[in-house]
Amino acid sequence: MSRKDPGVLETKFKAQLCIDGEFRDAADRGTFPIVNPANEKEIGEAALGTVADAEAAIESADRAFASWAEVPAPQRAELLYRVGQMILEQKEELARLITMEEGKVFREALSETMEGYKAAMYYAGEGRRMWSNVVASEQPQKIGFVVRRPLGVALVITPFNFPIATPMWGLAPALVTGNTVVFKPASTTPLIAHRIVQLFAQGGFPKGTVNFVTGPGASVGEALIGSPKVKVVHFTGESATGKRIAEVSSRFLRRQCLELGGKNPLVVARDCELDMTVSAALTSAYSNTGQRCTAASRLIVEEPIAEEFSRKFVATAAKLRVGDGLKPGVEMGPLVTRAALEKTRRYVRIGLEEGAKLLTGGRDYTDGELSKGFFYPPTVFSGTNDMKIAQDEIFGPVTMIIPAKNIDHAIELANDTRYGLSSALYTKDLQAAFKAIWKIDAGVTFINGGPAGIEVSAPYGGIKDSGYGQELGEAALDHYTEKKTIWIEAK
Ligand code: NDP
Repeated sequence: MSRKDPGVLETKFKAQLCIDGEFRDAADRGTFPIVNPANEKEIGEAALGTVADAEAAIESADRAFASWAEVPAPQRAELLYRVGQMILEQKEELARLITMEEGKVFREALSETMEGYKAAMYYAGEGRRMWSNVVASEQPQKIGFVVRRPLGVALVITPFNFPIATPMWGLAPALVTGNTVVFKPASTTPLIAHRIVQLFAQGGFPKGTVNFVTGPGASVGEALIGSPKVKVVHFTGESATGKRIAEVSSRFLRRQCLELGGKNPLVVARDCELDMTVSAALTSAYSNTGQRCTAASRLIVEEPIAEEFSRKFVATAAKLRVGDGLKPGVEMGPLVTRAALEKTRRYVRIGLEEGAKLLTGGRDYTDGELSKGFFYPPTVFSGTNDMKIAQDEIFGPVTMIIPAKNIDHAIELANDTRYGLSSALYTKDLQAAFKAIWKIDAGVTFINGGPAGIEVSAPYGGIKDSGYGQELGEAALDHYTEKKTIWIEAK
């Protein structure tokens, strides 16, 4: 890629498969194009993997497992540490590719790249801290302790919206605990995924430990999840896809972690620091063009301040600078694909039909630069929580303001959803904060922060249709290992 102008490419990118340490084309040499969502120009192509490629990747991971499992964890961690260093050194180039392929603005792409770096560093550290419990025995001269053993072939399937962070959240703990990996990225973002896999190869991970297959979920993904050799699945994506994966995985009684959709409430209490709350809500609703599992898609506001909050929020949202994420000063990029744009448009029509009040946005760009590419303006509705636009995950730059009588009512509304991923309350009242902590049904509750913005060091996962199992923090070590109890007696 040209370094002269961050937006101009002299050569196109290519994502190949990586199987048994070899970067290669798909078995039948098929490819598919990758398009920059800001201008619809082709920026590269990816191998259109086949079922045979998926099977070869699993075979490769299976063969590599026994010897990789015997490498001491601190040595596995050294390799991961090298990958982290390379991500750090190449962060600008990686972030630029994320923006070109996924659309998020460069600043956010850079911050996501750093999440990838942090995951590598955190789990490299865990390689030296794979401690376990020692158990006091009822008998003299007898002791019990617990060891962690890797499970085998780990399947990591990731979505488009965090194309470095979500793969790293899967790959780093899987590998440091001694599993081998087959990684399938979203078909919209294989180029950045391929770069990450190259870094694992350059970092010295032995052949077969990291296998990479691109291609459709409906064929390649199905072949991967249908293999009995896969012992653990780490899936991030839509709830419907997650349910399909759970259905297949249950046949094998295999371990799985499903990180799925969200319809996250941000509760605004009457005593909150209003300007700070408006600014945080804006970031949570529109960063990555609303394509975040933790996006603030329901702003539940106590009635006494609903009007003032609404006026300030709408005025700021309307002023967000939309454009190509590589251009300086741009605050929100395009949606990832035409299909995502169509889905957003459809939900705006649904909102209008069901009587929600459109406060800003909600109209296509019809001329100028933004009429090309998959741009849509920041959109705010006001309405009630029973509306379809308050219940379905739109995954676009659309949020809605929902008034609540008081904190108890706000929490009731927050819980009135089939999802349970992230949530937030902005308040100075500790009693309200404790109510939210104990009563909101979600995997995460932020007080005066969020609901977007997850840190690697703490376990993370949703409930209800947002999935089950947890990733990150110590939870990922539990996900990727089985604990075996040892009893030793002096006889
Ligand atoms: P999808 O569910 O469409 O795709 C996710 C991955 O699953 C892709 O790699 C996809 O491949 C693959 N896939 C699709 N069908 C199958 C199948 N039958 N078998 C195996 N794999 C399959 O999600 P998106 O990429 O659209 O991502 C957005 C979703 O992800 C949102 O719902 C968002 O909330 C959720 N998400 C959740 C997070 C969390 O932590 N809870 C974090 C980030 C996103 P292909 O692209 O080829 O179809």
